[in-house]
Amino acid sequence: MSVNSPSVRASYADVIVCHGCDHVFDNVPFSAGQQLSCTYCGEVMKVKHANWLMQAAAFTVTGLILFLLTLAFPFIGLEAAGQEQSSRLLSGVWALLDRDRFLLASLVFITIFLMPLVELVGLGYVIGARLLDVKPPGLAKVLHLLFVIRPWNMMEIFFIGVLITTIKLGDIASLLPGIGLYAFAGLILVLIYSHTHLDREALWHWLRHENRFCGRDDEPLVVCHGCGAQVGESLLDVNDRCPRCHSTVRRRIPDSYQRTLALLIAATVLYLPANLLPIMTTVQFGVASSDTIMSGVVHLFQSGNAGIALVVFVASVLVPIAKIFAISYLLWAVRKGPQGNPRHQAILYRITEFVGRWSMIDVFVVTLLVALVQFGVLANIEPGGAIVCFAGVVVLTMLAAETFDPRLLWDAHSE
Ligand SMILES: [Zn+2]
Ligand SMILES: [Zn+2]
Repeated sequence: MSVNSPSVRASYADVIVCHGCDHVFDNVPFSAGQQLSCTYCGEVMKVKHANWLMQAAAFTVTGLILFLLTLAFPFIGLEAAGQEQSSRLLSGVWALLDRDRFLLASLVFITIFLMPLVELVGLGYVIGARLLDVKPPGLAKVLHLLFVIRPWNMMEIFFIGVLITTIKLGDIASLLPGIGLYAFAGLILVLIYSHTHLDREALWHWLRHENRFCGRDDEPLVVCHGCGAQVGESLLDVNDRCPRCHSTVRRRIPDSYQRTLALLIAATVLYLPANLLPIMTTVQFGVASSDTIMSGVVHLFQSGNAGIALVVFVASVLVPIAKIFAISYLLWAVRKGPQGNPRHQAILYRITEFVGRWSMIDVFVVTLLVALVQFGVLANIEPGGAIVCFAGVVVLTMLAAETFDPRLLWDAHSE
């Protein structure tokens, strides 16, 4: 049975289903500048901005220009003992590739270059099509992709990494911001704006008005996380793709508990070497010294940068371990049946999901240091074994949070 066959009833339903807990609400009209939040789990379900299309278009065009400027101009200059060096946005990636750190180089390349580029091109494609009122091929896929890749664009985290690097290098060299860095900072703001101004629901509505697809009138409906459409269970038995956005629709993420647990165990195993092995080795005037994550924090503190030391401590030490504990607790709550308050657990889940990516700061700082400090005998910085393990912890806990299905917390209570 195809989704376009006559036995499939496609209609429009004026309801809104919460992605976080599956509760159904009437779609009340509300004005620009307001947002609708779920009264059960607190998830933001809808935001509306006035004149969103023109604003998102303006931000995206500005973003594309800023992206070109970031690549065309020097990013940071470094000056030490009469020697000068200038590096580009991707210098760190090339420096890691020179050292055969292929995994790490790919991770940095994807999060600071590829994802922002895909996002900009995707936004341009979707907004351009909407402005011209044409529906070119793959539009639904691109719109869906825009929201999937969002957490993997880590430009703002990289930018904080640049600030920390500047302070860390304070006693070896002075850093001079280039035009590329200013353009990069502008691009971060512009991308956040164009993303928050994009009215996802209005775009899906324009692409296809119908948002309810079923075989029979009385069958249970499953909400699509890609576009918010409701799909009848009888259709999903035949084809698990959403008729509107073609993303996979599932009542619950399959084996969510087992997969999250497996990812969590892998992250916990990597957490030890990530903290015990050296994260980088600095050679200064022929003397080599290695730093672990913790000793780096202590050095920052001793050199009088208590605030920055705290930021690095929270992002690199506290957040990963807190994330491991939080996900363990959520898994326990699901396994043990109704435990605690599901609303509080849902909030804990969203915080875990939100803060997890910020642990990438240390990975970016090491990348920047390796790229920037190449003064031969005077000073040199090499990445240590811990950095790959640490990046592994960050990526695995991010994946664990994505694989965890927060609706399971509510299932435990409704049973
Ligand atoms: Zn909810
Ligand atoms: Zn869909």
